[in-house]
Amino acid sequence: MIRLKDVELEYPNGAQAIRGITMAIEDGEFVFMVGPSGSGKSTIIKLLTAEIEPTAGRIMVNGFSMNNISQRQIPLMRRTIGVIFQDFRLIEKKSVYDNLSFAMRAVGASPKEIKNRIPYVLELVGLDNKGRRLPSELSGGEQQRVAIARALVNNPATIIADEPTGNLDPARSLEIMMLLERINALGTTVVVVTHEKDLVDRFSKRVIALEQGRIVNDGHAYYGGPRQ
Ligand code: ADP
Ligand code: ADP
Repeated sequence: MIRLKDVELEYPNGAQAIRGITMAIEDGEFVFMVGPSGSGKSTIIKLLTAEIEPTAGRIMVNGFSMNNISQRQIPLMRRTIGVIFQDFRLIEKKSVYDNLSFAMRAVGASPKEIKNRIPYVLELVGLDNKGRRLPSELSGGEQQRVAIARALVNNPATIIADEPTGNLDPARSLEIMMLLERINALGTTVVVVTHEKDLVDRFSKRVIALEQGRIVNDGHAYYGGPRQ
């Protein structure tokens, strides 16, 4: 569960990136967050992952209050979210399997848990026969599926995807969105930040639209004007 109440964020140089945002994302929801460049999308992700603290207002993420969260609690909070980036951010020298096992070992998973979990997640993303590949031996769409597998491997309550299809062609982009939809159907909350209007329009999901640090629309399948 994600809650923002009257959140504001001013960067040290005085830029008002978020100007009073109140919203709630319930467990199990699939939400697109859209808006033009500079509207505050990345800033919201940084707030949700505790990279930055709000200048004003309150934020709750999966039971953690992000106001005055302690350094000790931050890693515990981050285990409840899996983050996916436009540029995949895989470890290039590690195989697909080792990228995932590294992420599991980092949170103290046992060898047995790792051995049980990775084949399940690789199958879920359609890469069950690619565990030994290096990222450079995979297509862009496949690399993003590895990144999704890595985000899922520790069974987070929430997946946050930051422009996950920004480096992919339209067909691969659609596949990635459909995969995120399937993951959501299995119970994970999914928040997708994107400016790809065409893609958003193909899914009948809740869309939160930002402009200049404010929510200008929050509803279903609406972005930038009435649908034709
Ligand atoms: P988006 O992700 O929608 O493109 P951002 O959250 O990156 O928007 O930016 C929102 C506003 O905050 C913009 O005006 C941007 O210039 C400003 N901004 C973003 N990051 C910083 C920063 N580190 N320092 C100062 N201003 C920033
Ligand atoms: P996609 O249709 O997903 O874009 P590609 O046509 O790029 O995939 O790749 C087809 C297959 O070839 C994939 O299964 C991928 O794993 C494999 N492949 C792509 N690039 C390389 C590479 N540089 N080395 C080894 N295998 C590769």
